[in-house]
Amino acid sequence: MNAPLTLKDILGWLREDNPDRLATLWAWANETRHLNVGDTIHLRGLVEISSRCGRQCAYCGLRASNDSLTRYRMSPDEILVSARQAVAYGYGTVVLQAGEDFGLSCEWVAEVVRQIKLQTPLAVTLSLGERTEAELAAWRNAGADRYLLRFETSDPVLFQIIHPSRDQRAGSRIPLLRHLKQLGYEVGSGIMLGLPGQTYESVARDIDLFRELDLDMIGIGPFIPHPQTPLGSGELKPFAAPDDQVPNSEFMVYKAVALTRLVRPDANIPSTTALATINKRNGRELGLQRGANVLMPNLTPVKYRKLYEIYPAKACIEETGSACNGCLRSRIRVIGRQIARGPGGRKRPAPQVEVLC
Ligand code: SAM
Ligand code: SF4
Repeated sequence: MNAPLTLKDILGWLREDNPDRLATLWAWANETRHLNVGDTIHLRGLVEISSRCGRQCAYCGLRASNDSLTRYRMSPDEILVSARQAVAYGYGTVVLQAGEDFGLSCEWVAEVVRQIKLQTPLAVTLSLGERTEAELAAWRNAGADRYLLRFETSDPVLFQIIHPSRDQRAGSRIPLLRHLKQLGYEVGSGIMLGLPGQTYESVARDIDLFRELDLDMIGIGPFIPHPQTPLGSGELKPFAAPDDQVPNSEFMVYKAVALTRLVRPDANIPSTTALATINKRNGRELGLQRGANVLMPNLTPVKYRKLYEIYPAKACIEETGSACNGCLRSRIRVIGRQIARGPGGRKRPAPQVEVLC
């Protein structure tokens, strides 16, 4: 079982349904995780800093044309309060996530990053969508450590259908991921599983692309239909033959997480909130036991949480940061793992960048 997995192997595993064979896959992924990133779990505090978005992604509840949503943007002071909470709970990283909100100007974000770096020991991860190269460079220069941008699917035709491009820019997010790496960010990406029109072959290529891009962080979650979106309402129906269509099931997520661990043994892989949403009882734990090593407790102030409705019935939507922290810690204890200290990045030398807003 030690030769690198080929595309054909990955495809075979994605289609595997035999419980005994799958038990060997879970064990293999768990052992690979243990040998390469150890038994600790990194906690990354997630702050959803703005629900405003100028994009029209066909899958996401934050899309610009969803006018049933009240929009918010947190103030820098509110973000700093959340960052201090991350420190108080012992997290090593704060993740600032938002819609593609151009009201979050280059200098505004840079100053928030500078203040967090000045006032806390936290690593800062940004997940603010497809921003300009100058902005990404300026934020790196301000001290941002990591950037998360999922490519969602490596199928270019499906991606163009579900993620209309903006301002004549290239549709694919993959060139931007390569650029983020050149800027010295630790780079995270990932996919949704079970998008209408998504085939087993394309998911096998996604996993192979995780390997080729040498990603530092890889997030995989099920597609959860949102009724106020074209993909969730069925208004948009990209087609795949029934035998080829990937289901948006928790089992598909476990298989993809396990295979991702095998192709990228030292990557940081979260057990995602979307997985916890479709199996609230123990989805997170099963993800952690099948290859994942990261959890992302939510630190968004409760008054904003419900408004960041990417998909319905999101796990932990009513919980305070403190309740989320307590809940995740006890889940980690139950499966016999420990909580990591410090920022928990994948270390690599960073090139110097000198760009200001
Ligand atoms: N705006 C930024 C972006 O697009 O990268 C960050 C925020 S966006 C809400 C974060 C991720 O949410 C997306 O990359 C996508 O994978 C996920 N997401 C959006 N809609 C979803 C849905 N209906 N089901 C599951 N995940 C979804
Ligand atoms: Fe906006 Fe990101 Fe949602 Fe697309 S996925 S609509 S860019 S928040």
